[in-house]
Formats: sequence, C-alpha cells, structure tokens
Amino acid sequence: MARRKKIYEGKAKTLYEGPEPGTIVQYFKDDATAFNAEKKDVIEGKGVLNNRLSEYFMTGLGEIGVPTHFIKRLNMREQLVKSCEIIPLEVIVRNYAAGSISKRLGIEEGTRLPRPIVEYCYKDDSLGDPLVTEEHIAAFGWASQQDMEDILSLALRVNDYMSGIMYAVGIRLVDFKIEIGRVYEGDFQRLVIADEISPDSCRLWDIETGRKLDKDVFRRDLGSLTDAYSEVARRLGILQSSNITTAPTVVK
Ligand code: UDP
Repeated sequence: MARRKKIYEGKAKTLYEGPEPGTIVQYFKDDATAFNAEKKDVIEGKGVLNNRLSEYFMTGLGEIGVPTHFIKRLNMREQLVKSCEIIPLEVIVRNYAAGSISKRLGIEEGTRLPRPIVEYCYKDDSLGDPLVTEEHIAAFGWASQQDMEDILSLALRVNDYMSGIMYAVGIRLVDFKIEIGRVYEGDFQRLVIADEISPDSCRLWDIETGRKLDKDVFRRDLGSLTDAYSEVARRLGILQSSNITTAPTVVK
C-alpha cells in the first residue's frame, strides 16, 4: 500500500487521506469487535468481503438515486470515498425485533414490527452509543430539523432497497445501522450515506432456515463469520463459491 497519511483508525476500518482534496481512502480491516469492543478477534478475509459487499450496496443505492459517499473500489481492501463530516448519530432501522429492542421492550426476537422503526443512537463509544430522541438531537445541535427529515427519508429508502435485494436472494433484512455524512459543495451541503453497509452493520437471516448471516455469528459464537458473509456475497453474485474461509475470490 502506498504511504498515505492516516486520518483515523476505527474498529473495523482505517481512513487515509485520498489522492485528491475532498477524497478519503477507506481501508477495511479484518478486526471484529462486539459489545463496545469487549469482545475482539481478527477474522481473516472479513475486510475483503465487507469492502466488496459495501461497494455492491452503495453502488446499487447510487443507481436508484440515493446519494452515498462511495466513489470507487480501489483494490481488495480499499475504496475511495468522498470526504464528509459524519453526523454523530447511528441511524438504526428495524423491520423485525432483535438485539437491543428485544431486550429493551421485551419483544421476542424475530417478531415482525408493525412498521419499520427508526431509532437514533448518539455515537460515543465511551457512553456505549446511547439511544437518543429527536429532542436531544435538536437541543444539542447534532442535526437540524431539515436534516432529520432528510435522514428519515434516506434511512427508509435504504431500508426498501436493502430489504428488496435481500428478499430476492432469500434473506430477511431484520435491521441495520447507517451513518450519515455532510458533503459540502460550494455554499451548499447535502447529506449522503457514509461509512459502510455490510453484514457487520445489518442483521440478515436466511428466510427458510433462520440461519444468521451477519455479525451476530461473531457476537454469539455461532460458527464461521467469513462463511456467513461469503454466503451473502455468493447469493448476490459477488463471489464464485460459498465455501471460502481464507482468501475469498472476488468476481470482477
Ligand atoms: N449496529 C451497528 N453498530 C453499532 C450498534 C448496532 O452496526 O454500534 C447494528 C447491528 O449490527 C444491528 C442494528 O444496528 O444490525 C441494531 O443493533 P441493536 O441496537 O440491536 O444493538 P446490538 O444488539 O447489536 O447491541
């Protein structure tokens, strides 16, 4: 890898200065963390899969007119993205109950929700990303009322797109998390889908068997994480084979 200036090292990705102003290189690591980094491991091949899967989802979203930060994939582990200011919120959309909403509200995992539910968490690892309301977001100035309307509409469009492509390959999109960035263009700013969309940030269940094909495999010790992610990639036509554990072969 060329010597690039590191801007930020996160849990699953490292960001480097891009080749042109306003661009960033996102490097996908093999590190997996859960429970606010209390559980950690290195899972060979995860970064390669997530780079390719995120490219696939972001490209598809772009095709249907949902703005994203994605510019192009550079190689197996890196992609070029637009530099943006991340709004300090995790935007979660849920179609079925699982994880924290099941615990919080006592709803059995797998229960279909009456309609998609959008939640916001304040992005702060030291606080454990607490759930916040629009009141907190407005009062602390994390996003404006207009931003919140745009964020809701973007989140629901991502949900429809992701639910549809997953349903087409026999996978249920239970829930997912996205991050939103502000891109400045002259005097204007617009909101784009940033960060990544991958099985690290979604819950994906096989519709027939209920098999988990997402990061819960790691969180709950349910087997090989790369087997699960490879299965998602294979069904979407991104990978040639389903039994890849170490060096996934990516279809060009
Ligand atoms: N999620 C994420 N990053 C986080 C928290 C949640 O990507 O820091 C995703 C998670 O993978 C799931 C959805 O957001 O698809 C909802 O997560 P939940 O609130 O149920 O939290 P969890 O049970 O994962 O702690």
